[in-house]
Amino acid sequence: MQERTEISTLGEFGLIDHLTKNNEIKNSSTIVSVGDDAAVIDHLGQTVVTTDMLVEGIHFDLMYTPLKHLGYKSVVVNLSDIYAMNATPTQITMSIAFSNRFSVEALDEFYDGVYAACEKYNVDLIGGDTTTSQKGFIISVTALGEVAADKYVTRSGAKKADLLCVSGDLGGAFLGLTLLEREKKVFLETKGLQPDLENQDYIIGRMLKPDARKDIIEFFAANKIIPTSMIDVSDGLSSEVLHICKQSDVGCVLYEQKIPVNDLARQYAYKLELDPTACALSGGEDYELVFTLPQSDYDKIVLNEQISVIGYITEKEEGANIITKGGNKYPITAQGWNAFTK
Ligand code: ADP
Ligand code: MG
Repeated sequence: MQERTEISTLGEFGLIDHLTKNNEIKNSSTIVSVGDDAAVIDHLGQTVVTTDMLVEGIHFDLMYTPLKHLGYKSVVVNLSDIYAMNATPTQITMSIAFSNRFSVEALDEFYDGVYAACEKYNVDLIGGDTTTSQKGFIISVTALGEVAADKYVTRSGAKKADLLCVSGDLGGAFLGLTLLEREKKVFLETKGLQPDLENQDYIIGRMLKPDARKDIIEFFAANKIIPTSMIDVSDGLSSEVLHICKQSDVGCVLYEQKIPVNDLARQYAYKLELDPTACALSGGEDYELVFTLPQSDYDKIVLNEQISVIGYITEKEEGANIITKGGNKYPITAQGWNAFTK
């Protein structure tokens, strides 16, 4: 039996001290951290801010999400938004609400994941809030980042003839979620039959322990690339591409054949009789970066295997379209990822 320490034995302040006792500051911009009424930071260029809330039962399911992974992912999804602005994340705050179902050990596990992400991405945990909820676990993270003046990238700068690009591969997280949901159902219906995760480590990892594309932002800096527009993939490629088109007042052509899908993910999609392209377009939670570049930057990215050119930007009047492998042209629609689970 795992040890269980009730949170009430520590109290609110004792718990905060316990969770933050090994917190280390890595950035010189962090002046005052956890322990005062507010944190103080000293950013050189412009400050980028983003926040995300994760609610148990809506955004995550603790039946198949280890708390350590959840801590890691709740930080990563925020850092991904900072990278999508072409900025470098520097600090986060972490606010949590939990019921008495949670023990000190459970929160320790969650914070192990939080600190692992802080370590990997070189960000400082500078504060947060701790409170109780009647039911369920609620997480709110705010991330702060730095960017040199005029280097930040929005969704609204794509220009006609720009290349439409994406990092990594898509659809894996959705397939991982599909597998986990299927095994949860089997588990509940058979009262405890152990799940068969079929050695699908790749797609399960994409769902439970995603990473943010720090490497792509560093590649841009090293190669003097500033995308004309950028967004991260939280809802699915089609939704993100439509955001860029709408906010940049442009259209686009996307080639189905060019959409990167990992081989293991593709094989699993076929096994479930799902279309891998549909998983990439509507799946979401891959936390890759979708961005546009002037054609003159093509030589700078062509050798980077982590970047795929998937299409190009057109006049707004031409609309946002996908050309299928068979050569047919269809308008891109933003089905949310729920389209697949219904
Ligand atoms: P206040 O009453 O001013 O809100 P708190 O007692 O809530 O202060 O917090 C004390 C310190 O601990 C603050 O610096 C706050 O940012 C930090 N803190 C509170 N909860 C957390 C948490 N879950 N994770 C990290 N830091 C936290
Ligand atoms: Mg407080």
